[in-house]
Amino acid sequence: MGRLIIVSNRTPAPGERTQPAGGLTVGLYDAVQTQETLWFGWSGHQHADAADRPVQSEQVGNVNYVTFDLTQRQYDRFYLNFSNGVLWPLCHYRTNLIRYTREDCDAYYEANEVFADRLVGLLEPDDTVWIHDYHLFPLGKMLRDRGVTGRIGFFLHIPFPPWSVARLLPRLDMLLTGLAACDLIGVQTPEDEANLSGCFRAYGLKVAVEAVPIGIDPVSFRQQAIESAASDEVVKIMDTLEGTRLIMGVDRLDYSKGLPERMKGFEALLKNYPEHRGQVTFLQVTPVSRGGVESYRLLKEELDGLVGTINGAYGTPDWVPIRYTTWPIGRDILAGLYRMADVGFVTPLRDGMNLVAKEFIAAQDEEDPGVLVLSRFAGAAPEMPEALLINPLDAEGMADALHIGLTMDVQARHAAWSAMYDEVSRNTAGSWSKQFLDSLEAIRPCH
Ligand code: UDP
Repeated sequence: MGRLIIVSNRTPAPGERTQPAGGLTVGLYDAVQTQETLWFGWSGHQHADAADRPVQSEQVGNVNYVTFDLTQRQYDRFYLNFSNGVLWPLCHYRTNLIRYTREDCDAYYEANEVFADRLVGLLEPDDTVWIHDYHLFPLGKMLRDRGVTGRIGFFLHIPFPPWSVARLLPRLDMLLTGLAACDLIGVQTPEDEANLSGCFRAYGLKVAVEAVPIGIDPVSFRQQAIESAASDEVVKIMDTLEGTRLIMGVDRLDYSKGLPERMKGFEALLKNYPEHRGQVTFLQVTPVSRGGVESYRLLKEELDGLVGTINGAYGTPDWVPIRYTTWPIGRDILAGLYRMADVGFVTPLRDGMNLVAKEFIAAQDEEDPGVLVLSRFAGAAPEMPEALLINPLDAEGMADALHIGLTMDVQARHAAWSAMYDEVSRNTAGSWSKQFLDSLEAIRPCH
């Protein structure tokens, strides 16, 4: 069996290489345990002489992590401006937030060429290459152009919009032609599959696209939640809530997450259902991300303002309706808090998957499970029809769902939770990577 070559913009940080901590590391954990792996990506460092600096490599177990540096210009234009300032809003249907320049687009392709140049010398003929995410759409073709003939798969972790939205991107044909050089494209949902396939068809490109939703490791997350819920830190936090019911939201501070909308939904709960005033606390954990992109800074200002306004309007000297932090909290603590929460409040306007929704379900106490209020526009929604599904634009609808969740009897909560827990247990991180790699192998068998 040849090696597995994982290519992602960033590789796991050195501290996360022994202990998978989140997202892609957990998702790929099983796959890298069973075969020799090279994980290739940007180091996270910028240097003026990046092109002359050698790659850095570290072997941890089966995995050889190989990273390289970018220049400041590449970081700014490839990563911040084009990947996060053009492709991210486009793929999340936020066309008004796109800030496109030809120069940034060129830098994106140049950075992908750097990935290809650096990687190609490390490859062997029977390797399977698995490229991850929107930073690297054109890399498959660049590898083919450099003579790579083995299997190449690609997984898109974020949504893909329909042709009517995608065509707004200048040079979309170039992007899709680059992607079409891969043997299989995995996406999160049937909707993404239909959208991407439709775009390929519009350019006469024939490519295999398959929806393979990513999962979590529910067994270890559940164990972590049970231990963490009894820890001093979580007990201390729960004590400060003074018996109020806990509604919880956890998201990077990103405009795709529907955070201002969520605040308005909670405000509508307090307005329309005054019996919950003084009885609930909404804890929103929102670590700042991509502070270098203007739309993220503006979002933070908006959110800070909304939280202050709602707390000012409804809070009392002895009760703060919204607890809000823009610092990250470790996943171990979060796991315990999810377990203690009465409601998980997940309201993205668009989200590739949303692992928080799955983690919340995995963490619950089966004797007395909490309720998940979930946006229809999260990638997790098609897998979790038993959640209280909401539209984040409808504040009153969210308030109704919160009220239903807060007053639901234990039988109804248990029925919904156990159906979702079965699904989270069936479709795990391990089964995700296996299904993708099996499909890739079936499309292009070993010769
Ligand atoms: N997370 C965390 N600490 C925080 C906020 C989030 O560990 O303060 C974790 C969370 O538990 C989840 C991940 O970050 O595992 C977020 O994944 P998700 O798919 O929900 O969103 P993304 O950030 O990938 O858009």
